Amino acid sequence: MQLNVKTILNLKEKNPRFVYRDVRLTETKGQRIEVKVEPRRGSKGICSGCGKKCAGYDRLPQREFIHVPLWGIAVIFLYCMRRLACPTCGITAEVVPWSTGKSPLTISYAWYLSEWAKLLSMQEVAIQFKASWHHVCSAVAMAVAWGRERMDLTGITAIGVDEIHWSAKRGFMTLVYQIDNHCKRLLWCGENRTEKTITEFFDWFGEERSANLRFVCSDMWKPFLNLIALRAKNALNILDRFHIAQKLSDAIDDVRAAETKELMRKGKEVVLKYSRWCFLKNPENLTENQKVKLKDLLKCNLKTIRAYLLKEDFQAFWDYVSTVWAAKFLDQWCAQVMRSRLEPMKKVAKTIRAHRQLILNWFEARNAISLGVVEGQNNKAKVVIRKSYGFKTSDMLKISLYHKLGKLPVPELAHEYF
Ligand SMILES: [Zn+2]
Repeated sequence: MQLNVKTILNLKEKNPRFVYRDVRLTETKGQRIEVKVEPRRGSKGICSGCGKKCAGYDRLPQREFIHVPLWGIAVIFLYCMRRLACPTCGITAEVVPWSTGKSPLTISYAWYLSEWAKLLSMQEVAIQFKASWHHVCSAVAMAVAWGRERMDLTGITAIGVDEIHWSAKRGFMTLVYQIDNHCKRLLWCGENRTEKTITEFFDWFGEERSANLRFVCSDMWKPFLNLIALRAKNALNILDRFHIAQKLSDAIDDVRAAETKELMRKGKEVVLKYSRWCFLKNPENLTENQKVKLKDLLKCNLKTIRAYLLKEDFQAFWDYVSTVWAAKFLDQWCAQVMRSRLEPMKKVAKTIRAHRQLILNWFEARNAISLGVVEGQNNKAKVVIRKSYGFKTSDMLKISLYHKLGKLPVPELAHEYF
C-alpha cells in the first residue's frame, strides 16, 4: 500500500462528514504540515445551538487548528467554518468533530498533551512538544473538567483529610482523599484550612454519600473533628498515625532547641548542635555519622535524649493486636510522660489523652482501609506544588492536583495517539 499523510489522518482521525484535501509541507511559519479540511460533498453542517443538520449560510475566514505533531513536525488543520441557517436557532456556527469551539488545539492534541502532563510537569511538556505553556494549561484544564464531570463517586467508604502548605502568601490548601483499599485518589481540594473549606467539601460530596462514609481519617484540629462528627454521622473518625508522629517530632525539636539554648548559656559544650536529624529520622534511616553521633548523645543524660526515648517507646503502641492492651499501653505511656518534666512532651501526652478514643479507633480501621495513603498522597501533592512555580492562581494548582492525583477517567480518544 502506498502511504501518504492523508492515509495516516484517515487511520487516526476519520471524520465521515469531512475530507482531507491538500497536504503540504510549508516553511513560512517554521516547518509545518498544513492539512486543508473541507466538508464532504453534499454533507450538511451541524448546528451548535440545537445539534441538528442545517443548510449552509456562508463561510467564515480560514482558521488554524493545531493537531498532534508528526515526527516532530507541527501539523495544522486549515478549515473555514460554516455558518448555518438554522430554522430554530437562526444564523449559527457549525460544530466540527475535531474541535471544542474556541480552542486552537484539536481535541486529540489536547488529550495528547494532557496525558503527557500526567508524566511530566506542564513546563516540561511545553518544552518537549514545542507547545506554548498556555496551550498545555488549557489542555490539562479541559481534561480535568471532562474527567471531574464523569468521575465515579459510588462506593466511597473511607476518606482522609489533610492540609498542605502552598505558599507563604497563599497559605494552605485542604485536600480530601479517598482511602478505600480498592481505590485511592484525590477527591477534592479547596483553599485555606477553615470550617468553611471542609463545609464546602461536604456540600459538594452530598448528604447521602457522606452518610455512607465509614471511616474519616484526619488530624486533631478541633473544627475538623466537630464538622466530621456532624456531617459524616456514621463514620468512625480516626487520627492519622503520621500526624501523631509529627507532633512527637515537633515536641522533641522544642525540647532540643530549649536545651541547646540552656547549655550555651551555661557555657557547656554544645553537644546538641547539628544533632537535629539524629532525633527526627527513624533509626534505620540514619547515616553512619549520624549513628555515631546518636550513640554519643545517648550516653549523656540530656532532656532531649529522654524525649527521644519516649518517642521511640511510643512506636510500640502501633504493634498491638488487641485494642484493650493498646489502650493500657497508651495510658501508661501518657502517665510516664506526665512525670517526665518535659513540657513539650507533656503537651503531646495531654493532646493524646484528649483524643484517646479517636486514636484507638485506628486499631479498628487498620485492616479495613489504607491508612498510609494520606501521607503518601500528601508527599505526591508536595511534588506537584513544588513544580507549580508558574501558577498564578489557586485554580491552576487545583487543576494540576486533580490531574496528577485524581485518577480521573479519560475517553477512548485519549489513548489514540499515546
Ligand atoms: Zn439550531
